[in-house]
Amino acid sequence: SGKWAPVAAVVKELEERCATPVGKLRQVADAMTVEMHAGLASEGGSKLKMLISYVDNLPTGDETGLFYALDLGGTNFRVLRVQLGGKEGRVAKHEFEEVSIPPHLMVGGSDELFDFIASALAKFVASEGEDFHLPVGRQRELGFTFSFPVRQVSIASGTLIKWTKGFNIDGTVGEDVVAELTRAMERQGLDMRVSALVNDTIGTLAGGRYYDNDVVAAVILGTGTNAAYVERAHAIPKWHGLLPKSGEMVINMEWGNFRSSHLPTTDYDQALDNESLNPGEQIFEKLISGMYLGEILRRVLLRLAKEASFFGDSVPPKLEVPFILRTPVMSTMHHDTSPDLKVVGTKLNEVLGIPDTSLKTRKVVIQVCDIVAKRGARLAAAGIVGVLKKIGRDNAVKDGGRTVIAMDGGLYEHYTIFSECLQCTLKEMLGDEASSSVVVKLASDGSGIGAALLAASHSQYL
Ligand code: ADP
Ligand code: MG
Repeated sequence: SGKWAPVAAVVKELEERCATPVGKLRQVADAMTVEMHAGLASEGGSKLKMLISYVDNLPTGDETGLFYALDLGGTNFRVLRVQLGGKEGRVAKHEFEEVSIPPHLMVGGSDELFDFIASALAKFVASEGEDFHLPVGRQRELGFTFSFPVRQVSIASGTLIKWTKGFNIDGTVGEDVVAELTRAMERQGLDMRVSALVNDTIGTLAGGRYYDNDVVAAVILGTGTNAAYVERAHAIPKWHGLLPKSGEMVINMEWGNFRSSHLPTTDYDQALDNESLNPGEQIFEKLISGMYLGEILRRVLLRLAKEASFFGDSVPPKLEVPFILRTPVMSTMHHDTSPDLKVVGTKLNEVLGIPDTSLKTRKVVIQVCDIVAKRGARLAAAGIVGVLKKIGRDNAVKDGGRTVIAMDGGLYEHYTIFSECLQCTLKEMLGDEASSSVVVKLASDGSGIGAALLAASHSQYL
């Protein structure tokens, strides 16, 4: 009917602009591979920073002792302690706590943020029980997972390149984040040394390798997105240091900042980017990750409300509020299988103040969720194929070898339609034979253990 024609037109246009046929995905994967080469060739050679992590050895299983880890990089931060028992004892015991970061601290001053973190860490250390053992006279050591782009100068120091994912704190860019944390720990009277500074991707890779020898790459799909992998040291032209004994170096791609003319983008993406805290940056991340999917959906629904009277004669005021529609809500609606889409109705009412939606309206909402989520999942799969191509693992292997990608992040873990679509797309791109040796393995919070393992292998007492 007349009322629905404008709605259908908006959805159709969205669908066309977001289309990711496999040919396009191959172009994206190839562009990823090309940018990886460029980023490894020279500093600033690509939008992909391809950061050298100074991790040239991944965990072996021999690590022993008590180590702490701190994970900062999203809406929550986690503190963790683990008692490592070597090949026999493995992870003998571990405990963690999760603390949410008050939003005002995400855009406040550096000292305020680091004081808050150090104070939570100090409290956690104070609760250490009898079953954790620190040899007499030793300082506690910490693996610091800091999931923002950092230019490392050693395994335990590095300067912040930029904030992402909604963080924006004055005066920290260009500073050594380990020094910032160390000063804050001193202010708390906490005697602890940062032995390893890593990114969540590196932590996930390290944790993944500890449990599975075939892990060669890690991908994060949470609030943001990123990937890391093991590169041959001599394939890193921009590396002028000594070649590591292992012949390998872990690279933090910072793939969230990837961009390519092959990426399917829309006016919604353009506007989201323009109005973001970091316009022009993190374009891949803004198409894929949990921070943004719900916001893209909101923008489409707002346009439908404005131009096609989708929710009646007036535009629901809450729909105008940026980031009000979070990805977990989008995912809850998307997974609604009830015949009358009751959950969609409830969420629209609860979150956006839109009561009494018709079944037809709810169906369109699902359709938009589907378009936005599947574009993200398929592009993430294309990114993975790009990495596999770079390391020569995109073809079938004869000897029964496996290629394992350690995956972490709430988006992948909880948004089933997203993760299933990603898996299917990998299969579609790689073919049945090659994809049968590629495994995406969920490594929930492997990054915490990974950071503690790297702290252990870089301990001052070794
Ligand atoms: P972070 O990336 O902040 O370190 P997580 O890996 O736990 O933390 O991921 C949290 C993100 O995952 C959230 O910001 C959200 O975007 C996404 N997420 C969490 N739960 C869900 C869900 N049920 N459905 C879809 N996305 C979710
Ligand atoms: Mg995380």
